[in-house]
Amino acid sequence: MSSRRAPLPAPDATPEPLGPVPVARPSMPMAEALAPYLARMDEARWYSNFGPLLQEFEQRLTDRFAGPAFVATAANGTVALTLALQAMGARPGGFCAMPSWTFVASAHAVVQAGLVPWFVDVDPATWMLDPARLQAELADAPGQVAAALPVAAFGHVPDLSAWVRFRERTGIPVLLDAAAAFDALDAAQVPAMVSLHATKALGVGEGGFIVADDEALIAMIRELSTFGFRGSRESRRIATNAKLSEYAAAVGLAGLDGWPATRLRYGLAAQRLRIALTGQPDVVFQDGWGMDWVSSVCVVRLPDGTADAVAARLAAAGIETRRWWGAGCHLSPAFAAAPHGDLTATAALSGSTLGLPFAADLGLDEIDRVAEAFASVMMEISP
Ligand SMILES: *Cc1c(COP(=O)(O)O)cnc(C)c1O
Repeated sequence: MSSRRAPLPAPDATPEPLGPVPVARPSMPMAEALAPYLARMDEARWYSNFGPLLQEFEQRLTDRFAGPAFVATAANGTVALTLALQAMGARPGGFCAMPSWTFVASAHAVVQAGLVPWFVDVDPATWMLDPARLQAELADAPGQVAAALPVAAFGHVPDLSAWVRFRERTGIPVLLDAAAAFDALDAAQVPAMVSLHATKALGVGEGGFIVADDEALIAMIRELSTFGFRGSRESRRIATNAKLSEYAAAVGLAGLDGWPATRLRYGLAAQRLRIALTGQPDVVFQDGWGMDWVSSVCVVRLPDGTADAVAARLAAAGIETRRWWGAGCHLSPAFAAAPHGDLTATAALSGSTLGLPFAADLGLDEIDRVAEAFASVMMEISP
């Protein structure tokens, strides 16, 4: 057989077109990292119902928090929010003060808990509810406010002590939707939900947990997640099944084993992206993102009203972007009937924030393409 060389491309051949730079690419543990945990399942023949892997996973999650902390896992973050609101005693029929500037899951969870969302505007600088401002706005509430659900915007955790003060002054229970804040959330003085969805920083596929410094609250959430059982097969109250399986716990344990390295990769990718965009003063990152805390997404603030135009031009250059929270929940048909106050900052954020390509393994070539595309796009947007 004669060996044949592949023909060299003609010098004037056009290069292969580059594929789009994806806006997100989950980081999940590899199969080999799961194997030891799956072997433990084979041995124990225990696949759900608070088995040894789940107990270990919950303990290791608990150990991440400073001060007293207790953890209950659930089948996903959305149902975890609902069960926590129920366990906190938020009276059905009451209003839940919450931002419209969040993922729709927050509002769905509120409605599933029998509450009515009351959409309140966020602080334009932090993108989050301001507890002092909300306290002042309570006078304008459409009715009895049974709970408050601040949201940690894209993984940025608000000042928890300010929310403790809000709770003390108003008597209103507070639950923090910290879905994307697996990394930044390190204290439990306000009950909080962290999502373990594959697209979040520590993913198990589908899952979530509530952390709180209140052991009784966590015990109640667990009871609500397992048919109202507590220590016996007597169903003590109306509940559901929202347990996390041993399979999910295995992924979570492997994810925690790799977390120190994953976190470094997120931080490195974030800092490389920040450096590549230093020449673009109109592209503003979230406070501390990639330095003090990491998350699986990158959301930047652009000049007012330019998000759609920038997104369209980046798309033409093969750069995927996403407006993760759309125009806010209050504009979703599902929540159109829910009352809201003035939402000026929410509208401004929806027109000026954009999710950029980001991943723990974001490549240098991808970062270069994003930076190059931005250089010409921002010139067109603000000449
Ligand atoms: C991801 C997310 C949720 C939902 O979590 P799931 O685990 O996907 O149910 C809720 N709120 C916010 C802000 C989120 O980003």
